[in-house]
Amino acid sequence: MSDLPAGIYFALLPQEYIDDAYELEVQGYPADEAASLESLRYRQAHAPALFLGAFLAPSPQSKPVLLAFACGTLTSSSLVTHASMSSHDPSGTTVALHSLCVSPTHRRLGIGRALLEEYAKRAREGAMGGVQRIALLSRASLRELYKQVGFKEIGESEVQHGQEKWYDMVLDLNPAEEDVQAPAEAAAVPGGADLQSIPGAAVPASGGTEPDPPTMDGPTQAQVIAALLAERTRPPAPDSRTAATIPAGELTDARGRNVQRLRCLRPGCGSLILLEGVGELREGGEESLFDLDADRPAPHPLFPPITPSQKWWLVTPSPMAFENVAFSRAVPPAAGDSGGRARKYLGCAECELGPVGWCWEGATTEYWVSVDRVGYRT
Ligand SMILES: [Zn+2]
Repeated sequence: MSDLPAGIYFALLPQEYIDDAYELEVQGYPADEAASLESLRYRQAHAPALFLGAFLAPSPQSKPVLLAFACGTLTSSSLVTHASMSSHDPSGTTVALHSLCVSPTHRRLGIGRALLEEYAKRAREGAMGGVQRIALLSRASLRELYKQVGFKEIGESEVQHGQEKWYDMVLDLNPAEEDVQAPAEAAAVPGGADLQSIPGAAVPASGGTEPDPPTMDGPTQAQVIAALLAERTRPPAPDSRTAATIPAGELTDARGRNVQRLRCLRPGCGSLILLEGVGELREGGEESLFDLDADRPAPHPLFPPITPSQKWWLVTPSPMAFENVAFSRAVPPAAGDSGGRARKYLGCAECELGPVGWCWEGATTEYWVSVDRVGYRT
């Protein structure tokens, strides 16, 4: 089994996390493939033992954060059928696994694979009833990855769903002796990409051909996450560059995401705020409501004034996407603010330099960081 590092754990999805799961679902699937909120509610209500989440443990600033989930329904069919997507047959012995989603901020760490392994383990141990088989639909590019977890390919599915061609994959939980595959053989299949979804987001073209894939035992994912966590306790970084000194076009990669890490601007602090590739550059737009006049704390002298052309890093879907960040208390809306919602301001978690960004108070998935109020260093 995978050996996930401390801080990530599996648990059946509590009802109050359905909205969070739906958020991951719509981020992970094209619109014509994503399950509706109602479908997810149905699955959680009727088959709660089949709705498993991977959570990041709570911090002082946050309740547990849903990083990934897998959910399904029971069917008396031996393969995934269209009907099984919207119905649950309690007497069925096949789990039709409909969704496996990993937060975009936590992909390629092996969480999807570990979740699937945990799911199969629970099914084997009887936690899902008298289940004999897990069946799913895989897009062509993900078949090898499922095989690494022990799934067998049956062939092209008859199910029409979205634009893609789907393949039936099954994992028999009590296989006949001769059907058992040697795990070492399965693990040798190349493929470092996370299992993002079933059917799910496209895996990058390079995803299936990485030379050094993590094994099913997961030391790679443990190392990666341990390295991320270790960043929090490193000494202050040397002073960072400001956005104004970085040539246009070098701030973002081809996907429009930050090439360099975001750090606190205060000389001598340099606390790591955001890893590379997590923030999405946004210019203007109605989301960029950083009202400077009325309702925010006074800016630090280090900060340039925020102008209407201010650019932002959009960070989603939760505070856990940040490496370190502090939140102000809720600031009530200014008089005449049409939005009428309170906001919180973001600052350096170590020296409290801020505000460097903002978010709405209460339920939100969007965190906005000023491009000009953070430092950049690889
Ligand atoms: Zn700082």
